Amino acid sequence: MFRKILRILLIVIIIAGFVFFYFGPQYFDKSMNKVTLKVDHPKKVDWYDSIPFIADLHCDELLWDRDLLKRHDYGHVDLPRMQEANMAFEVFTVVSKTPRNMNYEKNDSKTDNIGLLSFVQLRPVNTWFNLVPRALNQCAALHKNAEGSKGAFRIITSQAEMQKFVEDRKKDRSLCSGMLGLEGAHCLDGKLENLDKFYAAGVRYIGLTHFFDNEWAGSAHGMKKEGLTADGRKLVQKMDSLHIIIDLAHASSKTIDDVLAMTTGPLLVSHTGVQALCNNQRNLSDAHLLEIGKRNGLVGIGLWETAVCGTDAAATAKTIRYVADKIGVDKVAMGSDFDGAIGSHFDVTGFPLIVDALLKEGFTRAEIEMIMGGNVRDFMLRNLPVK
Ligand SMILES: [Zn+2]
Repeated sequence: MFRKILRILLIVIIIAGFVFFYFGPQYFDKSMNKVTLKVDHPKKVDWYDSIPFIADLHCDELLWDRDLLKRHDYGHVDLPRMQEANMAFEVFTVVSKTPRNMNYEKNDSKTDNIGLLSFVQLRPVNTWFNLVPRALNQCAALHKNAEGSKGAFRIITSQAEMQKFVEDRKKDRSLCSGMLGLEGAHCLDGKLENLDKFYAAGVRYIGLTHFFDNEWAGSAHGMKKEGLTADGRKLVQKMDSLHIIIDLAHASSKTIDDVLAMTTGPLLVSHTGVQALCNNQRNLSDAHLLEIGKRNGLVGIGLWETAVCGTDAAATAKTIRYVADKIGVDKVAMGSDFDGAIGSHFDVTGFPLIVDALLKEGFTRAEIEMIMGGNVRDFMLRNLPVK
């Protein structure tokens, strides 16, 4: 009798484990990456599919261990949906550690949601506890996708590769590309030499901080929100020498000041809003916006409530109009934060709605082509490593 109960118990545990590890990751993905407006195949302005280069500066798809090459009815980005949206280029960013009870105001680095997620996703054991292999595992996943795509998707790491891709895409509009970025330099694990590993893996922009202060810099959402540390200054210097672009998204105000004071290297803010229209410490002040503009930087505008204080394309377009008027239409881009555990307005197939909203804001077709991706292409052609 006892043995029988034990056997039944064992079977129940095995089934529960299977259900948990099979459906768990998908459950988290679905519940974290919602869309606030469900729009199926929105109508496109008649020249939408002729826009030469549609691009986005920030997407966290790699975090969810989703097959990029297959179409999904949840989440925000995969290759088939990129192709439907005539999308040429997406930056795939690596989220490697986020705190429990994550909030915009104050977070410490003691807890680690992504360790738990990596376990549930049954990624390699060294990714459960260690940040460097965890982040490199996500980079490797994108390379695997590129290999599996049979040429439909490629990773760009240099000006030469971007130039080649632009030429190739003139002949084949279904081609898509991606670049790797880091969301938070904490995954270097405090060691400057680890930067070389991420450069070799193809990482070409790095956000210095994510939700907590780290060894290098203060976060807009950290406990102290200080600026660059002494090591952080060394990191910025080394990034400049390798032509790794600095992303100021999530940086504390002091960190932004410190970076502006010490480098003339290329700067972008991959996913943000502006304080003038949506006032919180996550968004850019006018002073920082103007300075980034003066440096010929690039500002990606997001698709979620706390970035643009609205839940539709009109809110994003209004913020784009503000940035364009303030620093120039050649310095603003899309920075969706797709799959970044946000309630996005829509998935990537909703990009035609942004074009409609930009038309309503009075932008010309030529300007819209710049905002929707031309500016990103040109920024990368100027600032990526040459070869
Ligand atoms: Zn972010």
